Amino acid sequence: MDVIILGSGSPMPHPERAGPATLVQVGQQRFLFDCGRGVLMRAAAAGFGAQNISALFLTHLHSDHTTDFNDVITTRWVMSPGPSPLRVFGPVGSRQFSERTLATLETDIGYRIAHHEDLTEGPRVETRELEPGAVLEEDGVRILAMPTDHSPVHPTLSFRIEAEGKVVAIAGDTIPCDGLDAICQDADVYVQTVIRSDLVSQAPALRMRDVIDYHSDVAQAGQTAARCNVGHLVLNHFVPAPPPGREEEWAADARACFDGKISVSHDLLKITC
Ligand SMILES: [Zn+2]
Ligand SMILES: [Zn+2]
Repeated sequence: MDVIILGSGSPMPHPERAGPATLVQVGQQRFLFDCGRGVLMRAAAAGFGAQNISALFLTHLHSDHTTDFNDVITTRWVMSPGPSPLRVFGPVGSRQFSERTLATLETDIGYRIAHHEDLTEGPRVETRELEPGAVLEEDGVRILAMPTDHSPVHPTLSFRIEAEGKVVAIAGDTIPCDGLDAICQDADVYVQTVIRSDLVSQAPALRMRDVIDYHSDVAQAGQTAARCNVGHLVLNHFVPAPPPGREEEWAADARACFDGKISVSHDLLKITC
């Protein structure tokens, strides 16, 4: 199983970091988790396009995790030779989100259908809302969705992907909680969005300091990894992003409580397990 961090960034635009998006590849199956800013640019760099996505999973509907949903829909539609429904799995609310996104695309869809003789219908999006505990199984891959705690954002999900005898946990935005522990237990790879609470707490703007109470900080990610017997902790979505050359400093609080492997992610970081 390959895990590729397509976007290692956060809501704050960064010249080197696209928005949150992670690819899990099992053979020819490509599962995309979230679709933040620039996801298809990074997908192109990783050697695939929107038409190659087996399914898109949404951890939650915060804008930084979904900004390029419209781009995935449109580009898949235009680049596919025939109808190619995009399968989307996400928390309750995802269906309405899909319908409303498609509604914003109506003008463009009309232009393209009018222009291309071989394009006779608009994009298809098949959205399934997952209740916590939902399990999907297909072609040797098992994906478990569990609830997380990103209050006041409800509902939110994390995903445990099991294939080829390995386990990958995609956490999304969350503080430590039982659902998170359930997806992380004995995981070979655990990808966690994190903040530097020690730095964010010094921010002059209240709106920045507000983000502390609904994200794991680096130490909490390390504690979850240790408690759940994780093999490799991957830190991403850093707020603030580590300046080049100082990545190790950004991992220090996790290293203090977790003796497994730790990576501070960058765009296109690839992990094979
Ligand atoms: Zn969020
Ligand atoms: Zn986020």
